[in-house]
Amino acid sequence: MVRVTCHDYGHDCDFMITAEIDDAVEEYNKHSEEEHGIEYVKEDLQHRFMELEIFQ
Ligand SMILES: [Zn+2]
Repeated sequence: MVRVTCHDYGHDCDFMITAEIDDAVEEYNKHSEEEHGIEYVKEDLQHRFMELEIFQ
């Protein structure tokens, strides 16, 4: 599981997701594209989110 906040990507935005990496990539990319007009490369997001992975 990862917790991703849009704020961490430089946006003044309260969007947050807690999900499995693949779902977080989909959800975050959708949000980013719709709200901020930025579409990320999925592999880039996967790599970034892997570093955030919560091990519990
Ligand atoms: Zn946002």
